[in-house]
This record gives sequence, structure tokens and C-alpha cells, in this order.
Amino acid sequence: MAADTTRPVEPEKLHTIADLDRIFSLQKKAYRNSPYPSYEQRIASIDKLIAMTESNEEKFIDAISADFGNRARHETIIAEIVVTLSGATLAKKNLKKWMRARGVPTPVHMLPAKSKIEPQPLGVVGIISPWNYPLQLALAPAIAALAAGNRVMIKPSELTPRLSEVLREAIAEQFDESDCAVITGGVETGQAFTETPFDHLLFTGSTAIGTRVAQAAAKNLTPVTLELGGKSPAIIDESADLEKAADSIAYGKLLNAGQTCVAPDYVLTPANQLEQTADAIAKSARTMFPEMDTTADYTSIISDRHFARLKELANEARDLGAKIVEVGSANALHPQRKMPLTLVIDPPAEAAIMQEEIFGPLLLVLPVKSRNEAIEHINDRDRPLALYWYGDDDTARDEVLQKTTSGGVTVNDALWHVAQENLPFGGVGKSGIGAYHGAAGFETFSHMKPVFYQSKFASGGLMRPPYTAKTDKVLSFVRKIL
Ligand code: NAD
Repeated sequence: MAADTTRPVEPEKLHTIADLDRIFSLQKKAYRNSPYPSYEQRIASIDKLIAMTESNEEKFIDAISADFGNRARHETIIAEIVVTLSGATLAKKNLKKWMRARGVPTPVHMLPAKSKIEPQPLGVVGIISPWNYPLQLALAPAIAALAAGNRVMIKPSELTPRLSEVLREAIAEQFDESDCAVITGGVETGQAFTETPFDHLLFTGSTAIGTRVAQAAAKNLTPVTLELGGKSPAIIDESADLEKAADSIAYGKLLNAGQTCVAPDYVLTPANQLEQTADAIAKSARTMFPEMDTTADYTSIISDRHFARLKELANEARDLGAKIVEVGSANALHPQRKMPLTLVIDPPAEAAIMQEEIFGPLLLVLPVKSRNEAIEHINDRDRPLALYWYGDDDTARDEVLQKTTSGGVTVNDALWHVAQENLPFGGVGKSGIGAYHGAAGFETFSHMKPVFYQSKFASGGLMRPPYTAKTDKVLSFVRKIL
């Protein structure tokens, strides 16, 4: 009989700090013994990850759903399985090209030398992943790191213990610990993980924890990629088709019940259509989820703590005078922690929901009197991870894109720039440092080593001491041809 992946995980199965240190030493040694895995070895690693993902698909779906209370099956297939496989396929298709040395021009006075950038594996890479897409956000960076020829250690979130355990077992079946391993454990193991002298550390999670991770990594000068969160705006321009924009925003918000780093956090809409915007989004949500509080297609809130946090955000905004519209019936005692889409319309600036990342199915709907007010609203806050713009007016669109800075943008839809693997994915400012996906991921986990190949006909010796009149002549010639 297959193991029940939905049962709680026994604590003795979790890794200790000693396990973490042992596996790190093993990987470091393996890297020293074989610092440059061949193209074929890297393809074999990606193939193992693909096989592991496909053969454990049902276990992953069940474990994630048990961790959440309920995770819509199709959401796991789309956002975890398909996205991971699409990243792996793209890496396989492009790996030969990515591994190639890139020739760069050599200035005329240095000819006939040659100059190249030669990608090289960094060594042992650490990956810390969050609970919201616990499979994809562990495996997508792992694929990039393995493609770049590294050893990989993954530390998943303690909030998805069942998925972490299934993933640990599945990776252990396919990979030698010295190549790729999952480290499970609580916050203590997580902290020790950040203090491990990796050659690169990729962290996906909140800005608050990311700051601590960067500080811990800095003690070893370990370079970090920080994939963080923040409040991502959706701007509805006057030129937009309101219904289409509402459909897209409602989908972007309700996927994974709003527990998506790039979910729209607030909508900026022309003040004269505030009510219509809220009505249109509510209507779209009802069309997608006619029985939001009971359907298995709608995902639960991950924990009681997050459920209470979200309720509190909405309650405080209501007390401060915001209009609240709940789509679906609210039932805080629902055993699966289902929370209805809650539109929070025009709360005062001091409400907590106006400052904190929402990360759940609450959506701020805010009126703006002009394009400039929308731009100012965004620029008064930390730089967001994503920005969505809806409309037909290209001049208005370009103005918003040029005057705001966000990690990424989708125009006339939500979320999709993240799934386009050829676009780098990452934040800017408080929403993150660095990027991955596609070629950007390969480069993040490579040392892009500059190599200068001197020619046997080089004339550089003419500039060596002792300096004479001949040196001056050569120098004046070089300065003429610079
Ligand atoms: P989190 O910051 O609480 O935890 C992320 C990871 O860090 C988990 O694995 C956790 O176990 C670990 N961790 C917690 N405390 C730690 C510590 N002191 N030292 C080392 N590790 C520690 O984030 P979360 O609640 O799991 O995820 C939600 C956040 O992640 C949101 O802010 C969301 O926007 C962000 N996020 C960003 C992206 C992205 O790609 N940019 C993707 C998903 C989620």
C-alpha cells in the first residue's frame, strides 16, 4: 500500500543541525572532486528532477492539500507541476547555449588577444523556499542551480511539513545526497542553514525574514538572491475594458486564495468608477467560484494564525470606516479555513491593510483622480514585486511603466510575466535582490568568469620598464587609437 502522504510528519524524521553540516561537507567534497559537471551530467540531473516530479505528482498534490487544509487540485497542477516542468524543459533546450563561452570584443590596442566570459559552477547552492508554492519555489531554483553545474541543498518551509517530507523522500530516491538533498527541520535548522557558508543562497519569502537571511549570509560573504514580497498594484486606466480587467484581477487575486507573492494587493481605479470596479470584481469572483466557501476548487488559508491575521486586517479597516464587501459567505469556523474574497474599499491611510502585504483573499479597491495620483501612490511606497496595468492608451501605459519601478510587469493581465520562463523573475528594492528563471537563473548560479587569452604576438611588452623614448612613442600611438 502506498504511504499516506497526508498524515502529520513524525518529528524524529526531521533533520538536525548535525545532518545539515554533514550533507554540506559531503556536497563541498563532491564539488571539489568534480567541479565542472559535463553537459550530459547536467541534462541527467534535470531529467531526474522531471522524472521525480512526474512520478510523484499525486503524492505532491495530496500532501500540499493536506498541508493547506485544501489546495485546489488544478492549482497545484498548473502552478506547481506544469510551471516546474516548463522551467526544466526550457533549461534542457537551452543548456548547450547557456554553457557556451561568450566571446566579447577586444579593444583594438589589445589585439590580437581574445576575450571570453566562461560560465563556471559556483559550488554548493542553498535554497530556502516558502510555503505558498512549496514545490515550485523549491524546484525551479534547483533546476537552474543544477543546470549551472552546482550541488544543491533545499530547505523548505516548516508550514508545509507533509510536502517537505514527500519531497525529501522523492529527491533522495533519485539523487545522491552529495548532489541534491532536501533539509527538513524547524526554525532553528533554518537559521543554521542561513549561516552555512554556501557559494550562493537563494531565499524566497517575506521581506522581514529576507533581511535576517541577508545579514546571516553576509557573515560568510555568501552572495544572496532574495525573492521577496510586497504590495503589488493593479492600475485600471480610464481606457481599460473594466470587465476584462476585473476578470483578470479576480483570477490573479483568488489563485491560491491570494497567497501568491505577485497577487494584486490593491487596485487603483478612476474615482468615478469605484463602485463599478468593486461590483465587476465581485461578479467575476462569483462566476469563477459560485460556492466559494465549500468548493474544492478554492484553496484554504494555510494556518489559523494567517486566517486570524487576515480577519483582523479586514475588521480594523471596517472599524476605521472602509466599506467591506464579502463575496461568498464568511465562516471563520470553517474546518478548512476557507475565506471569502473580501473587497476593502477606500480605507483611510492609517489602516494596517494599507501598509502590510495582504497575502490572502482581501483586495483593496482605491479611487484615484488622475494617472499622476496613481503613480505617486505607488512611488510613496516600497518598490513592488509586480505591477499590473490595464488599458488601451499606449502613452498612458508607457508613462506609468517609465515613472514606476517594480520587479516585473504584466500589461492587460495579471501574473503571466512570472510564467514566461524567458523573462527574468525577481524584485527590486524591498521586493528583492537578483533574479532567476531561464537564462537569468543559469547566470545567477554561475560564476560568469572573464578570461583574457593573450596572443603570442602581443605588444604589451613594449610598455614594460625600463621606460624609454620608445615607450613614449608606443604610448602616444596607443592613445591615438583608443
Ligand atoms: P517567511 O519569510 O516566513 O519564510 C520563508 C522561509 O524562511 C521558510 O522556509 C521558513 O522556514 C524560513 N525561515 C523563517 N524564519 C527564518 C529564519 N529566522 N532564518 C532562516 N529561515 C527562516 O515567508 P512565508 O510566510 O513562507 O512566505 C510568504 C512570503 O513570501 C510573502 O511575503 C510572499 O510575498 C513571499 N514570496 C515571495 C516570492 C517571490 O518569488 N518573490 C514567492 C513566494 C512568496
